[in-house]
Amino acid sequence: MSHGNQFSTVKSSGKLGHIQVSFPLPIFQEFSYHVPPQLETLPVPGARVLVPFGSRKLIGIVVSTSQIASRADLKEVLRILDPTPILSPELLELARWISRYYFAPLGEVLRVMLPPGLLAKPSSSDFRPREKVWPVKTRLAITSFQTSDLLSLTPRQQELIGLLETCDLPVSANQFARKNACSTSTLKKLAARGVLVLENKQIYRSPWIDPTPPPPVIHHPLNLDQQKILQAIRKQLVDKDFHSMLIHGITGSGKTEIYLNAISLIVQSGGSALMLVPEIGLTPQISGQFRGWFGSQVAILHSGLSEGERFDEWLRIKEGKAKVVIGTRSSVFAPVLDLGIIIVDEEHDTSYKQEELPRYHARDTALKRGQLERALVVLGSATPQLEIYHSSVEKGRPQTAILSRRILNRSLPEVHIADMRLEFEKHGKALILSDLLRQLLEESLKRHEQALLLLNRRGYSTALLCRSCGSTETCKNCSISLTYHLDRSLLLCHYCGHTRPLPSRCRDCGKEYIYFLGEGTEKVQETLQNLFPQATIGRLDRDTVRKKGSLNKILLNFGKGTTDVLVGTQMIAKGHDFPGVTLVGILTADQGLRLPDFRAAERTFQLLTQAAGRAGRGERNGNVVIQTYYPNHYSLKAARLQDYSLFFKKEIEFRRRFQYPPFSALVNLLVQGKHREPTLNQANNLCRILLENRKQISAGKRIRILGPAPAPLERIKGEYRFQMLIKAVQRSEALQIIRLGLKNLSQQGASLKKVTIDVDPVSLL
Ligand code: ADP
Ligand code: ZN
Repeated sequence: MSHGNQFSTVKSSGKLGHIQVSFPLPIFQEFSYHVPPQLETLPVPGARVLVPFGSRKLIGIVVSTSQIASRADLKEVLRILDPTPILSPELLELARWISRYYFAPLGEVLRVMLPPGLLAKPSSSDFRPREKVWPVKTRLAITSFQTSDLLSLTPRQQELIGLLETCDLPVSANQFARKNACSTSTLKKLAARGVLVLENKQIYRSPWIDPTPPPPVIHHPLNLDQQKILQAIRKQLVDKDFHSMLIHGITGSGKTEIYLNAISLIVQSGGSALMLVPEIGLTPQISGQFRGWFGSQVAILHSGLSEGERFDEWLRIKEGKAKVVIGTRSSVFAPVLDLGIIIVDEEHDTSYKQEELPRYHARDTALKRGQLERALVVLGSATPQLEIYHSSVEKGRPQTAILSRRILNRSLPEVHIADMRLEFEKHGKALILSDLLRQLLEESLKRHEQALLLLNRRGYSTALLCRSCGSTETCKNCSISLTYHLDRSLLLCHYCGHTRPLPSRCRDCGKEYIYFLGEGTEKVQETLQNLFPQATIGRLDRDTVRKKGSLNKILLNFGKGTTDVLVGTQMIAKGHDFPGVTLVGILTADQGLRLPDFRAAERTFQLLTQAAGRAGRGERNGNVVIQTYYPNHYSLKAARLQDYSLFFKKEIEFRRRFQYPPFSALVNLLVQGKHREPTLNQANNLCRILLENRKQISAGKRIRILGPAPAPLERIKGEYRFQMLIKAVQRSEALQIIRLGLKNLSQQGASLKKVTIDVDPVSLL
């Protein structure tokens, strides 16, 4: 009967019901709208609707619906854009979880879950959202080609045909033309001559049009350790429920091979798999490997794709055409159907944390998603994040599987420590290369082997000092010195991008005694080139990979052996498998140790271990030289021995003593503003409110509120920054006090725009 009643209510008010809508706006609020009868049906949760919002029209996502028509004053939905949900109930639930856990407005979370273009950005009035998700658009496509008569073609045309051979056809003519710098009219000419066929077709724009064919697939017979882990995975997959597992495997122990086999199991049983890799980890090597194993079932998602490519990959996943997804951070939201396994490779990597709203961590989000979708979540690392490892030791969650040997029992590299204090004494000055590293480099070049040199600073020199008056060139917007970049011949701020020409005289005293301080990767490359003129020295850092495709080129050249020595920032440390590398040099190992961040030791240990792990992955043994001024620090000693448990024992004691994670939950609150005093006042005000609120919470005594204090980088992009650190035994208690604090602050009419809340921060700078 109640149904009948409801129906009559609906009828009498002339509405189908009402819905709650979330917008991609930085507000913690959802809005109700009536659904008028002319729309014929209630939209489903997870679908988009077009609605009036103030004087504008906005696209929002339906988060819940009700058949009862509510308050009469509600505005009406203008249009339902999607007949079926573009976000599954599980992804909507995941979004709600992120919104609560990370203090992010729901609409902002929904925005990052979807490919760009599906939700209108309200700030840009000319932005035309994509109104239809389906069907796939019709585009001009190259559907086939024959090259029967190659000789009659120009060399360029022959080259294009060669490139087509490596593409999965059909391919969008536009996209192919853009990628290979030719025009569509060239393609049309070739079509007119019958060399290739152009047709209008419904096709996806695939990121796979890449001139490198996938490498031949080698299915290595798994060794006993690998088999044991795969067996454990198989067992957990059977009961189709949430499980978590940590594969703690030293570098080169064959983790990737296990991932590939596990994904195979899933795909064979009709399910899908999602694999997350760090930002830089998505190399042609790994994507080629996946493509080799799983062919066109693989979708790839990363920031280097064009909007169209990203959209079409998303679509292929959503339609169930792509069953294996590999991607960086935000691909944790890929609309995978029948999700059986999520793998988070190098789970400790900091690129999994988004450093802007919503500030989610993709690994922790993956664990939550696994729970919601009853999937297995596998984390892999040689250097697990301390909290994860601790949880595994204490609670058995995740369950840990260990790979303690390298493949084929290849030995770990021999790690040497070069004490730079002694080097300084010996030479009377600080040199870039210690005697040992220089000697090993010479020998390795003689043997035609390859080397990687790590220096975590890009640019030529990190500061400019006037030797006459002592002043340095600092950024006008940030409290940081400017880096000199030789290739662009200017001074650059690494935080805000401010540039200034290189001065010939000191800006303060006018004298000419300007001195370059602290070398960066550019300088090291130059120095090496002078020392070893015959060698080819490459460089890998954010400057050299700025151009699209250049990262792949640098890695390919190194992989082929065209480059002898690759100098780079932490980018070179990550996951690469270059069997030709027998020497790794870490030029300033303790650079990160000096950072005012409780994770400094952990980061250093991870970086050194990962970097060292790049050496000796082939048949020849490897050497690693760690240059340091603190040879006795435990993170260096443990990295030297590649001994995670030694590091863990020391570090966990430090964390326990100072109540840092995993013994507490941290939330970093950052208050920013153009002027110092009002900003500090606002921070003090927020702090007072929090202290007041603490009294009202039963667990209040267990919550510590530190600060406000100027952040280590006090000014960035022209804004002052003050931070407060909240430490609580339970994360929920920290979140409770913040929730109260923000409520009070907004009741006072204070703007929350300039308050950043970072739950489980990975960086405290
Ligand atoms: P990790 O991911 O642990 O660093 P990889 O999975 O990249 O290690 O493995 C290192 C190298 O060993 C790769 O070149 C890989 O192809 C090879 N490999 C992996 N498993 C085996 C195996 N069972 N037999 C022979 N080679 C293997
Ligand atoms: Zn700056």
